[in-house]
Amino acid sequence: MNYRSTRNRKISLCASQTIVQGLSPDGGLFIPESFPLFTLEDLEGMEKASYQARAVSILSKFLDEFSEEELAAYAGAAYGNQKFSHPDIAPVRKVDEITHCLELWHGPTCAFKDMALQMLPHLLSASLQKTHEEKEACILVATSGDTGKAALEGFRDVEGTRILVFYPKDGVSDIQELQMITQEGQNVGVCSVIGNFDDAQTTVKQLFADQDLRKKLDHQGIFLSSANSINWGRVLPQMVYYCSAYIDLMKSGSLKLGEEINVCVPTGNFGNILAGYYAKKMGVPIKKLICASNSNNILTDFIHSGTYDRNRPFYTTISPSMDILISSNLERLLYDFSGGNDEEIRCYMDQLSRSGTYQVSPEIREKIGETFLAGYSTDEQTQQMIHDMWLEQRYLIDPHTAVAFHVLKQYRELSGDHTLSLVVSTASPFKFCSSVLSAIGVTDRKQGPEMIEQLAELTGIPAPDSLVGLKEKPVRFKRSEEKDHLLDYVLEQLF
Ligand SMILES: *Cc1c(COP(=O)(O)O)cnc(C)c1O
Repeated sequence: MNYRSTRNRKISLCASQTIVQGLSPDGGLFIPESFPLFTLEDLEGMEKASYQARAVSILSKFLDEFSEEELAAYAGAAYGNQKFSHPDIAPVRKVDEITHCLELWHGPTCAFKDMALQMLPHLLSASLQKTHEEKEACILVATSGDTGKAALEGFRDVEGTRILVFYPKDGVSDIQELQMITQEGQNVGVCSVIGNFDDAQTTVKQLFADQDLRKKLDHQGIFLSSANSINWGRVLPQMVYYCSAYIDLMKSGSLKLGEEINVCVPTGNFGNILAGYYAKKMGVPIKKLICASNSNNILTDFIHSGTYDRNRPFYTTISPSMDILISSNLERLLYDFSGGNDEEIRCYMDQLSRSGTYQVSPEIREKIGETFLAGYSTDEQTQQMIHDMWLEQRYLIDPHTAVAFHVLKQYRELSGDHTLSLVVSTASPFKFCSSVLSAIGVTDRKQGPEMIEQLAELTGIPAPDSLVGLKEKPVRFKRSEEKDHLLDYVLEQLF
């Protein structure tokens, strides 16, 4: 199967080239030329299969240059016992009769980014070989917190790769920062950027577009690649858990084969929910996709009005991985809803970079309305949700997950729609101890990593081993740079 750029349909690459390139040279994102369809029988047929085997069945449809044996080896390595602490990899937990929660944080860095970033390095390494690439791949990552750590962990000491991660200095939690600055591995670098996530992401995008830099690196035998959720190799593994969750709900008798569910996703860059949309497109019975935001509710407004407008204040919230004003993956959805009209997409994206805003056509707006619902949760509502969930269900959830639970609750109250719903849980509560402790009413909070033990003791829930071990690790990376200096930093690191 080949892949096209959202901004130029004439560009067509095979899967391995798509994964190696990450972003199309015209600034567009790669999308498959077609989508396979899974019938209900196909889904039912995967009932007895492990998560790894389900991943192989789905990935193989998109990656015809890769044999099933290859994919099975990657899935085994990515989602093995040493990496994931739960045997089901992405377990579905019942909350009440009409609500289930898909837990995506049992991987090595305790956030859902592991689901894709444990797989991507295998796909990239193999793609480098398949494309006979002899240069070293340098992965540049802008992170709102979780991607950085998950990418570092996925790529550490992977042959033929280097990785440099940039995070906003004051935009990540203490524990997220500690996870990154203590990262092990010979091929890794971490630097904080003065500014917010959009500053970091925009600067990294500029580095990718910098032809002069590319030339210099080329002479050194290095090329730039991306592990951000714009890379197709990120989106693809994320489709698996939507299929897998539906199969698990069916298997447990929680729904009848073919019964439609609503899915509520805490959203930032629109990568996770986009994978849910693709799963629906491939045949998973999903009725509505509910896009949940925090106070940076640009997507809520967009889904309600058809106007994307980033000219608004940026808020730092207790769900930092969703503090985003430019949701890159939305471009893929618009491409789909425009019927593959690359010119139209180019036009929207031009407007966005020139004036920070665009308005989609009435046709696209209507299609969005058929599939998507949207809402947001303020920090107070998010805290209240964590509190209520703990008090009423003894279920400890992180702030991102709580945003989704709140938005679902709000939607149900307003609409009276009590369709069976799946809430996507994206991080372990132990990654955001300070907010979680405060939400459940603890005023006398410890500092830094000690909060992890405090939260475990108070709730009786064991903390993930990888987080408990953090306080013993030496800090390796202390650099902080203005965004104008990132180019120099990259040159310095790579030469
Ligand atoms: C990245 C992230 C999100 C947002 O996911 P997108 O794919 O960017 O929409 C939500 N929650 C957590 C914990 C994350 O790390």
